[in-house]
Amino acid sequence: MKIIRRKSDLRILTRNWHRAGKSIGVVPTMGALHAGHLSLVEAAHSRADRVIVTLFVNPRQFNKAEDLKKYPRTEESDAQKLVPLGVDVLYVPKPEEIYPDGFATTVSVSGVSAGLCGATRPGHFDGVATVVTKLLLQTDADCAFFGEKDYQQLQVIKRLAIDLDLKVEIVGCPTIREADGLAMSSRNLRLNSTARDIAPVIKKVLSEAATDIERGQSVRLAVGSARNGLIEAGLDSIDYLELRRASDLAPLETSCESGRLLVAAWLQGVRLIDNVPVGISSLSGAKHRLTVQSN
Ligand code: AMP
Repeated sequence: MKIIRRKSDLRILTRNWHRAGKSIGVVPTMGALHAGHLSLVEAAHSRADRVIVTLFVNPRQFNKAEDLKKYPRTEESDAQKLVPLGVDVLYVPKPEEIYPDGFATTVSVSGVSAGLCGATRPGHFDGVATVVTKLLLQTDADCAFFGEKDYQQLQVIKRLAIDLDLKVEIVGCPTIREADGLAMSSRNLRLNSTARDIAPVIKKVLSEAATDIERGQSVRLAVGSARNGLIEAGLDSIDYLELRRASDLAPLETSCESGRLLVAAWLQGVRLIDNVPVGISSLSGAKHRLTVQSN
C-alpha cells in the first residue's frame, strides 16, 4: 500500500489506472478506523479494481475548535489496518492540497442539509460537501462509499454528486454495530464505562419506535415514547429524534413506504447519532428473514 500526500503524485497513478481500464473506488475517512470504515473498504473492493482510502481530518466540518483538537489522529495504526485489506493507496493530503492559499469556494447543498444535524451543527455540511467534492475530484473516483451511519451526510453527498455532474457513483453501506447494537463510531472511545453501558439503548429505542410506527402507532406517540425512553435510560439531552422520508429527508407526519428514524443525543458530553429504516421496505425485510428461518 502506497501512502501519498500530494495530489500531483496521486494523479499520475490514477491516470495510469484509468488508461489501463481499471476502475477506482474511494473511501473517504477522517481516520481512527474501526470495523465500520473497514466494511466500506470491503464494499469498494467488491465494486472497483483499485481502492483508495483517504484520511483527512477536515477542520471546516467541526463547529468547535475543541472538538477538532480532540479528534483522534492515528495514521500509523490506521495504515496497519488497511494493508491486510489490499488497499492500493492511503491518500493523506497535506492541508494545503485541500485548502490552498486564498481558498474561497464552498459547496453548499440546500434541502437535505436543512434540519437534523444541519440545524444543530451550523456550517457542518458545507464543510463536508466541500471536502468530499475535492476528494472525489482529486482521486478521480468512479465509485465512492459512505456509511448509512451518517445518513444525512450520505444524502447530502448523493445530492451534490448529481447536481455537480460528478461522474462518480455514490454507494451507501449499512451501519456496522457492536454486539450490543451500538453503532460503531470513533466517538465511542470517549464514553466512560457507565456511558458505554447506557449507549446501546439508542439503537434499542429506535428499533422499538420503528416497529411501533410500522404497526400503525402514530408517529407523534412513537417518537414521544422513544424520547422518554432515552432520557429515562440516562441520555442527557436529545438534539433531535425525527421521522423523515428516506430518499430526501423531507419531514414526515405519518409513516410512508420508506422512512428513516434519525436521532442525535448527548451522553456525558459525547454526541451520538444513529438511524434505522421505517416502513414497508423494512417490514418486507422482516418477512424475508422469517421465510429464511422457517426453511
Ligand atoms: P468518518 O471517519 O467518521 O468521517 O467516517 C468515514 C466514513 O465511515 C463515513 O462514510 C461514515 O458514514 C462511515 N462510518 C462511520 N461509522 C460507521 C459505521 N458504524 N458503519 C458503517 N459506516 C460507518
